Amino acid sequence: MPLTLPSWQPHAPLQPLTLPWLQQAGVEVAVLRLDLIDPLISGNKWFKLKHHLHAAMQAQAEGVISLGGAHSNHLHALAAAGMRFGFATVGLLRGHEQITPTVLDLQRFGMHLHWLGYGGYRERHQPGFWQPWQQAYPGFYPIPEGGGGLPGALGCTDLLTMVREQLPALGWRDYDGWWLAAGTGTTLAGLLLAEAGARPVYGAMAVPDDHGVAQNVAAIVGEGEFQLIDASRCGFAKVDAELLGFIADSEAQGGIPLEPLYTGKALLALREQINAGQFGHGTRLIFVHTGGLQGRRGLRL
Ligand SMILES: *Cc1c(COP(=O)(O)O)cnc(C)c1O
Repeated sequence: MPLTLPSWQPHAPLQPLTLPWLQQAGVEVAVLRLDLIDPLISGNKWFKLKHHLHAAMQAQAEGVISLGGAHSNHLHALAAAGMRFGFATVGLLRGHEQITPTVLDLQRFGMHLHWLGYGGYRERHQPGFWQPWQQAYPGFYPIPEGGGGLPGALGCTDLLTMVREQLPALGWRDYDGWWLAAGTGTTLAGLLLAEAGARPVYGAMAVPDDHGVAQNVAAIVGEGEFQLIDASRCGFAKVDAELLGFIADSEAQGGIPLEPLYTGKALLALREQINAGQFGHGTRLIFVHTGGLQGRRGLRL
């Protein structure tokens, strides 16, 4: 049976963030809580998937097939959406078979899993990579890793609409820019498309400089007013004591749950930039909570 999607319009609350270092600097931050859009389909990944899934529906696909690691927020959101909306999902996983809380969820959500090893996973950009999988799963629609590309970015333009609708309740007439974690930069690209130059977007990179984030953003949007800050702390998934302490403090003082790969690093990088004088008194920023809390379970910290 071909895939069908309901018109689900998730809502993310926009909440003021109170933390001592923000108050000291006179910088106001409101958090767009994408981690709260749904108990299972959490974070920016739903927005990145939305147009890919609509394309799959238009193609009358029998299901979708995508890739990721053993803690992947992307596969988690995709598998949860498949279970919720009743379509079949296949996940191609990096590395060798292992059990993580994410993998257990993927199985529970009914996703068919295949482990590609590391070498096999590296082949994913080769022409012909998808062919055997499309033979094994005829009529399944391939979605690129992480839900990237222009369709992924277009889904993230919804974030601007959600913020606009909620500014009055916050007592804000306007804001001065966006601050968010960037992995591939697809979500950031979506905000650039939505803002069309009206306000700057700051990407706190969860990966080191050489991962091509700027090139990826430029490939989607061409030019735009954005700035990338290295927030990776020496590598993707590199975690240190200062970061963990900062996350614990932010949760205790500001009531905001963070994970160490993206959102924790992004907020810590904001504190560093504020300390360095990047944002003056009276600046108002939207911090996008991109989710990822499910992946936190798998990190032994
Ligand atoms: C995937 C992910 C990101 C990165 O999103 P991009 O669109 O690739 O930049 C940021 N935060 C979390 C929690 C994620 O899961």
